[in-house]
Amino acid sequence: MFLGMDDTDSPDGMCTTYLGAILAENLRRAGYTVGEMRLVRLNPNVVWKTRGNAAVCLEISGGTPEEVFDSACRLVEEFAEFGCENTNPGIVVVNERPNPAFYYQALQRFCTIEETIQRLDAIGALYRGYKCGRGLIGALAAVSSVLPDATYELLAYRSPERFGTQRKIVAESFFTSAAATFPHTWDTVDPTAGTVVCVPHGKDPVLYGIRGESPEWVKTSAKMVQSEPPILTQIWRTNQGTDAHLLDYDGEPQEGLSYRMDGVVAGNPVTTCGGHVHFTFKPDAGEPLLTVFAFEPTKEFRHIVRMLRSGDCLTLCGSWKKNSLHLEKFRINDLSDEQIRASPKCPVCGGRMTSAGRGKGYKCRTCSGRIREVATVPRKISVGWYEVPPNARRHLAKPVVRIHEPQHLQGGQNG
Ligand code: ATP
Repeated sequence: MFLGMDDTDSPDGMCTTYLGAILAENLRRAGYTVGEMRLVRLNPNVVWKTRGNAAVCLEISGGTPEEVFDSACRLVEEFAEFGCENTNPGIVVVNERPNPAFYYQALQRFCTIEETIQRLDAIGALYRGYKCGRGLIGALAAVSSVLPDATYELLAYRSPERFGTQRKIVAESFFTSAAATFPHTWDTVDPTAGTVVCVPHGKDPVLYGIRGESPEWVKTSAKMVQSEPPILTQIWRTNQGTDAHLLDYDGEPQEGLSYRMDGVVAGNPVTTCGGHVHFTFKPDAGEPLLTVFAFEPTKEFRHIVRMLRSGDCLTLCGSWKKNSLHLEKFRINDLSDEQIRASPKCPVCGGRMTSAGRGKGYKCRTCSGRIREVATVPRKISVGWYEVPPNARRHLAKPVVRIHEPQHLQGGQNG
């Protein structure tokens, strides 16, 4: 059977993965077999999310669905943050994985509580939604999920008496571990910013989370980090770092959906107050020109964005929010020739030359000398992928280190 659970935490504490890990421990102790533990991230643009819009699914055998369901309900009733208006837990138990269509809808689009309940009734699931029951959406999505591409996260959890206190870690050991296991683990640290990324700062039970390509690599990496003793660790199979949230752009952007789109830069980047950088983009699909943003928290990523020029051919990945595309990463497929701005000096008399017309080179006002070639300056960026730093990365976004392209296509940050 499969048990799905969601929406148990608040900004002040708890975490659905922690309850999932505790439930798995309780069930194992009671003689059940707990198989795959799955952590799915759903649409990152959902406004009700506490942090990363996570939901969990446990694969369980032994006992009856009713007993498992009751254990999960008791745990949620004891630990969920019911005091928070935005905490509306949901628990679902099914005997078989339902059709994945609902998972894809929750991952890439939006779902209503009503349609979720209709679907749960139609498939004969055991379910309970607390308060407004919104957590049923994530719980049903988690049991319906399919992971054609998957990564792993080892989550270490804190002792309850430490919740809300500063986490004790040896930062240096996280940098050593990340370097020793690269490129098989990622987002443990941000080397440019010099920060540890995988240790949260809130009151939740997570001590750290190591992300990587296999259970073995995340275990190897976790063995190298030094910290306060975790009370529990759990390796989750996840859709994190897979780009599963991206839809191929169809020419009509919709609020809250995330896209992958090809097209051409239609206007040079501009930096606005606050340090945000934006440019105009003409996608291959559809008529409208789109505004694309790299926001200030994406830090050095904006330096690359500022180097783009009209005519550059790109693939963009990001979410459509408030009439603009919020960039997660992009690939430069082809660079336009950037025309020199200042006119060159005349090779005959050394005088200043002026443009002879678009694409026609330059002519000298003094001696009528001509240069027929349009002068270009070498571009400082190259074809390839560029991404936001680990500090600013979304859980679902595939890191460039996971993009394996044929060698002749590599460049940018995957070259
Ligand atoms: P938690 O650890 O509690 O899961 P979180 O940051 O993952 O924290 P939630 O508190 O679960 O976020 O809040 C997200 C809420 O949005 C959940 O109730 C979930 O069921 C719901 N939800 C998830 N995806 C969608 C979607 N595509 N459409 C509508 N609601 C969604």
